[in-house]
Amino acid sequence: MPIFTNPQTFPSFDELPPSTSSLTTPQTPWFLLAQIKENMTITKPTLVVRDRSNIDFAVTFDDGDHHGLVIGGGNGEKARFRKGHTLVVPCATRTDRGEGKKALVRVPEGQGRDVRVLPTSLDKVFGLGALVNGEKDGEEKKRGCAACGKDEGGEGKLMRCTGCGVVAYCGTECQVRGWNELGHKADCKALKGIREIWP
Ligand SMILES: [Zn+2]
Ligand SMILES: [Zn+2]
Repeated sequence: MPIFTNPQTFPSFDELPPSTSSLTTPQTPWFLLAQIKENMTITKPTLVVRDRSNIDFAVTFDDGDHHGLVIGGGNGEKARFRKGHTLVVPCATRTDRGEGKKALVRVPEGQGRDVRVLPTSLDKVFGLGALVNGEKDGEEKKRGCAACGKDEGGEGKLMRCTGCGVVAYCGTECQVRGWNELGHKADCKALKGIREIWP
């Protein structure tokens, strides 16, 4: 599981390598995370997104057509580019289109299938990533019940959420509260996605 605060693993748009650079040595994979602002698809799938340093730029996909982009595990699932959700592009590069034209991220043919969309905002992805890693203020956080905070390993074992496998509860009452009141319903799918991308 990568550390979400590491800019080498999660670079901003400006920190991406140029598409013209030839990578001779094997690199540790990096991921561009950006929140979808607008779907501008006319022919090729084209999105306007915003990265963690609040820079807006375009992402285009050579793989798809106006029907969308086929992604995810080869089961023919189409990418749903929802506004407000977070795009994950592995090993993204920056294309400089020359003077007067804005740089963009172009996902070359054959790499579109590695792109994922997490069903939550970019801020949330960073927050949930920290939660998965058990980070809190740079220290290992002891994980107790996600609703009441009761410690793990105390009296009675905690039950882990079967959806994401990340958060745990001391009992059904706390689980229901976590799901509804504390908003885990919205986070659970995104957490599951995060764990699938970075097992
Ligand atoms: Zn509890
Ligand atoms: Zn869950």
